[in-house]
Amino acid sequence: MAQRIKKGDTVIVMRGREKGKTGEVIKVLRDENRVVVKNVNLVKKHVKEIPNVREGGIYEIEAPIHISNVMLLCPKCQKPTRVGIRVVFEGDSIRKYRYCKKCNENIDLIREKARVKR
Ligand SMILES: [Zn+2]
Repeated sequence: MAQRIKKGDTVIVMRGREKGKTGEVIKVLRDENRVVVKNVNLVKKHVKEIPNVREGGIYEIEAPIHISNVMLLCPKCQKPTRVGIRVVFEGDSIRKYRYCKKCNENIDLIREKARVKR
C-alpha cells in the first residue's frame, strides 16, 4: 500500500488520552504501522550515564502511536482528513499525488514516472 502519512506531515490524534493534539511526524515505522509525533505520547525513559557521552537521568521521549489513531491535518483546508492517492496523466508523465478527501486538493507529488509510449 502506498504510504499515506510521511515524515514532516502535521497530524492530529483522534483517539486515546492525547486526542486532539497535533504535531509533526518525525518518524514513520512502516513495518509496525506506527508513527512518532513530536511532543505527542511522551513517556519517561530512564537513561544511564555514559561517561563523556551523555548524562544519566530521566528523559521524556515520544513513543510511537498507531497510524490508525492519527489523521493528516490537511495543509490546504486545515481539517483532519483521510489521504487518497490520485494518479494523473500529465503530458509524458504519470504522476501520483496524495490528495485530501475533504477538500479534494492535491497535497503533494509522491511519484513521477515517464509514460511509456506505444
Ligand atoms: Zn483539505
